[in-house]
Amino acid sequence: MNTPVYMDYHATTPVDPRVLEAMLPYFTQHFGNAASRNHQYGWDAEGAVVKARRQVAELIHAQPAEIIFTSGATESDNLAIKGVARALRPRGHHLITLPTEHKAVLDTCHRLEAEGFSVTYLPLDKDGLMNLDELEKAFTPQTILVTIMAAHNEIGVLQPVEQIGRLCRARGVLFHSDAVQAVGKIPIDVQAMSIDLLSLSAHKIYGPKGVGALYVRKGVPPLQPLIDGGGHEQGLRSGTLNVPGIVGLGKACEVCGAEMAAEAPRLALLRDRLKAVILGSLPQVTVNGSLQHRLPHNLNLNFPGLQTEMLLMSLPDVAISASSACTSAKQETSHVIESLGAGSDAAHATLRFGLGRFTTPEEVEFVARRVVEAVNSLMDISTPATAAQN
Ligand SMILES: *Cc1c(COP(=O)(O)O)cnc(C)c1O
Repeated sequence: MNTPVYMDYHATTPVDPRVLEAMLPYFTQHFGNAASRNHQYGWDAEGAVVKARRQVAELIHAQPAEIIFTSGATESDNLAIKGVARALRPRGHHLITLPTEHKAVLDTCHRLEAEGFSVTYLPLDKDGLMNLDELEKAFTPQTILVTIMAAHNEIGVLQPVEQIGRLCRARGVLFHSDAVQAVGKIPIDVQAMSIDLLSLSAHKIYGPKGVGALYVRKGVPPLQPLIDGGGHEQGLRSGTLNVPGIVGLGKACEVCGAEMAAEAPRLALLRDRLKAVILGSLPQVTVNGSLQHRLPHNLNLNFPGLQTEMLLMSLPDVAISASSACTSAKQETSHVIESLGAGSDAAHATLRFGLGRFTTPEEVEFVARRVVEAVNSLMDISTPATAAQN
């Protein structure tokens, strides 16, 4: 077993060796520009992109022509939300989202608010779930877009995407979903879920960093692009295609599609074991977010009476985090845990466990034991009087 044990698969994942193998020839032998129309180098690169587009489309039940390659999900979210909003400005100026979205969605919404759009942030229950009645009430004749993530990157909660899609479709409102954490992990079907736009990222599904895609359903009005230039990707995303990255994204989608059905229950068992050991030894610990509507490989725990930084420092041989890497880069407390009202007043530590393809039962036992030891020794230091009374 290698230490530190990696249990931060929501932040990023290692490239699967099968993905790397598929990518390698496209750095050296097949280095062509996919837009070069007059020779074999270009045709080879183009052929690889065609294949990858089909692999990505298949995983989410889309058509290949509906896949736009981007530099990652942050760009996909920006293109979807700004692209729709700016294109449909004459029709309306209202968007609907959740306060617990990823920063790539929230900060994009804030930018649009500064441009004169109005955004409704729907309330959530204490489990982090949205309420469909609240969504119904939020629609106005001005509403042009609903953007709600499929699976949460911190607490793993799954929103009722299919029902949201149905409500939006019935009103002729476009529905975008940031499905970065869901794609490749649980079944996603853009047709059955009535999703018009969907963001995904390669590095969250054992592909390389710096490449992603935006699904744009055929029939969606033309988006306003963020990047102008050579007119690549149907004019929605100019710039020479990242062929090795795109090949890696395609292969990553293929592998996830083939293995998801067996991998999800395997990880759910390991996650439940992790929870059982920690909660069994530490009765004060609670779970953040719905257990029923949740990704199979996510656990997010609340440790009363402790500080997150102290707890993380006591776990040097475990690679986990308190919240999303994007949020911690800015040194903020999690906007997600706070909007669930999980005692932002009372002192508490939060840990996010993300299990993944290379997580073993031995690693789960090791991490569970380490967490229990770390919490017990910190509690001894921080509350000697209470400990003595007990
Ligand atoms: C990681 C992540 C993103 C950003 O994806 P990048 O490809 O790293 O830009 C967006 N949304 C969610 C939910 C994520 O987990």
